[in-house]
Amino acid sequence: MDFRDSPSEAAFRAEACAFLDAHAPEKLGDYWSDDASPEEVLAQHRSWQRTLYDHGWGAITWPQEHGGRGLGPIEQIIWNEELSRRGISGSLFMVGIGMAGPTLIAHGTEEQKARHLDPLLSAEEIWCQLFSEPGAGSDLAAVGTRAERDGEAEDADWIVNGQKIWSSGAHYADFGILIARTDVSVPKHQGITYFLLDMKTPGIEVRPTVEMTGDSHFNEVFFSDVRIPDSARLGAVGGGWGVTQTTLMNERMAMGGVEGMLSFDELRDFVREHAGEIDGVLRDELVRLYGWLKALQLLNARVVTKLGKGVIPTAESSVMKLQIARIMTKAADLALRAAGPEGLARKGYWQNQFLFSPAWHIAGGTDQIQKNVAAERVLGLPREPDPSRELPFEELRRSS
Ligand SMILES: Cc1cc2nc3c(=O)[nH]c(=O)nc-3n(C[C@H](O)[C@H](O)[C@H](O)COP(=O)(O)OP(=O)(O)OC[C@H]3O[C@@H](n4cnc5c(N)ncnc54)[C@H](O)[C@@H]3O)c2cc1C
Repeated sequence: MDFRDSPSEAAFRAEACAFLDAHAPEKLGDYWSDDASPEEVLAQHRSWQRTLYDHGWGAITWPQEHGGRGLGPIEQIIWNEELSRRGISGSLFMVGIGMAGPTLIAHGTEEQKARHLDPLLSAEEIWCQLFSEPGAGSDLAAVGTRAERDGEAEDADWIVNGQKIWSSGAHYADFGILIARTDVSVPKHQGITYFLLDMKTPGIEVRPTVEMTGDSHFNEVFFSDVRIPDSARLGAVGGGWGVTQTTLMNERMAMGGVEGMLSFDELRDFVREHAGEIDGVLRDELVRLYGWLKALQLLNARVVTKLGKGVIPTAESSVMKLQIARIMTKAADLALRAAGPEGLARKGYWQNQFLFSPAWHIAGGTDQIQKNVAAERVLGLPREPDPSRELPFEELRRSS
């Protein structure tokens, strides 16, 4: 493992710093815990993404022909580090730029790429992810939302009925990446098709979900006879699971980094400021957290080293995700205990992190699913049996 930048990485870092020093905003609103209204924060993020787009920094890893910089995951990580050093991490456009865009580039027709990539990269059009359903989360291949052809023609429209859940940002999204079941007579992984859905299509109802924080960032999305043209299908009919893998791999890469996640110094200062003298118990917990964070940074370095050799990390990403959830939960708990009763009475960054922390253990794959991956790939335990894998979807027992 080599922690130093190679000469080409150092040159990239210098170029990125020069750009950011000249153009980065002093502050980019935090959609999750900022005092600014969600609309103001969204406008700030849009404007910053437009600046990045105008100067060719909109997407580090996208090919240059599509407006990206044509660089690899290591440069992406360097870029993330420099953004977070300036306190401007956490793009609201992760689903579009980090997931939908790369999937379109890999599987889209020339028409689809020409129509969508440019407004997606400039944040003129915002995207959401319409994958999870009440009966399909960890077992995503169990999606039951139906898409059926309206007629016999090969390019007939599709009519969609069903429900999605947890759809982040669907209430302000212009487009959604949607997976739906187009064949119930084959095993679950084979009967799925992937669509690019215009969120203004009649028949779509977006219902925001109120979270413990009091905010609404997620939604239930209902489809009643929603008509999608066949030209909005991404990939082959029944080939949606393969396309989905491209999206999920990019989601893991986009979520994986540790930069910008937690500033230990800020946490320590918060604890010191609110708890007065840090007693032995708090000191002990802070030190333990510091150790976990350092171990996570080393694991991240291992992941970066693998990426640099062209290897996609699998089990490491799962262990990282587990540890990130654990650290964020512990940090928020520690901060609120240090703040005492005042911590409960006020609104603020750590209060919000505390209420949001259960989500870290669920989003992007639950703790139990990450442990399954680690058990199989690190410990070499047998693969979890899935008796439903080979059965036709219509024969599966489903709760919804
Ligand atoms: C903050 C946040 C944002 C999200 N954003 C989006 C989004 O924009 N779009 C989208 O499509 N989805 C989104 N999701 C959904 C997310 O991907 C799912 O919540 C997640 O995959 C878990 O699925 P589930 O909620 O259906 O839980 P389930 O899969 O029903 O799991 C319930 C419980 O059973 C456990 N479990 C399930 N299967 C196994 C197993 N095989 N072995 C052991 N334990 C198991 C789980 O660990 C969990 O504890 C988001 C979720 C969160 C929290």
